Amino acid sequence: MDKENQKRNIPKILAFVFSGLLVSAVIILFLLNSQKTKNTAEFVTQDTSDSISENNLNQTGQQGKIDPTDEQDSSNGQQQNNNLDDNTVHSTIDLSSINHEKNKKTEKAEKTISESDSDSEDSDTSDSEGETTEPSTSEKSIYSLADYNYIALTFDDGPYDEVDLEILDLLNEYNAHATFFLVGSRIDYYQDTVKAIAEQGSEIANHSFNHPDLTTLSHEALLAEINLTNEKIKEYTGITPTMIRPPYGAYNDSVLEALPYPHIIWNHDTEDWRLRNANLISNSIENTRPGSVILMHSLFPETLEALKQSLPILYEQNYRFVTVSELYEIYEVPLIPHGIHNSPADELGIY
Ligand code: ZN
Repeated sequence: MDKENQKRNIPKILAFVFSGLLVSAVIILFLLNSQKTKNTAEFVTQDTSDSISENNLNQTGQQGKIDPTDEQDSSNGQQQNNNLDDNTVHSTIDLSSINHEKNKKTEKAEKTISESDSDSEDSDTSDSEGETTEPSTSEKSIYSLADYNYIALTFDDGPYDEVDLEILDLLNEYNAHATFFLVGSRIDYYQDTVKAIAEQGSEIANHSFNHPDLTTLSHEALLAEINLTNEKIKEYTGITPTMIRPPYGAYNDSVLEALPYPHIIWNHDTEDWRLRNANLISNSIENTRPGSVILMHSLFPETLEALKQSLPILYEQNYRFVTVSELYEIYEVPLIPHGIHNSPADELGIY
């Protein structure tokens, strides 16, 4: 009897098990499907915002650890960067510029993506971040190209206290910053000037140790020129420079490949070293254009006098004076290690 009962129950048990399986299958299918749509939604969100910015972020991850001691390992990186140089400028090394970019991205995303997307929890957090950092919009307006004409004043061959310290005072009057490309062999003698530049908030960059023509040097000598200077600057300021300017603006492929920094040249040469006349130098300075990187030298009192004449005039014309890094950030042109840069306006073809 028991056996017969069991036999009778078998179809019931089977039916029960089968319906259970069916229900689970339906639930699994439903879950899979909803996951799929969610992924698609996220992808679309990312894609619309700005794929270039995503590239920036990824590349920054790699380039963030620019370290002079890294060079032996970086041959792959060099090739990548060279390719980038050829194509053009789609990477970035400055974290602040990324934040800048990111805020922009969030804004763009807010405009282009409809509110209905707010179900997606990821974009929710970034959106609300964007909203709470509303003041950053006003912060950004400091760097608005619509409001001001920005240029970068650059001073080579210092430090030299007699000129540099007065330039710093003058910059303070205009709430301005400049970029000083320092020669390493001078730094011990003028260490207080180096510290003063850093304290004023201006930018310090590398102009080699002995001011040689870098194109004539061996690979090892090239590295020594740059690394020694960076070490000196770090010793007195705690800052490791992230940019170099080759002496005489002279470079070739070997120089670019050896040195994993943006090579900053200029697009406006005041020729102060040749003119040595404050009026002529100031004429040149005042003949500038927005987005320019202006070459001057720390060595000549005439350059300082020219600046005293020109800065008030340019300021009246809505010019503001920022560092090279800031200028590139303002124009949203990334600075590329191993790359050559003249000026962001030049690179964007604005002239
Ligand atoms: Zn020089």
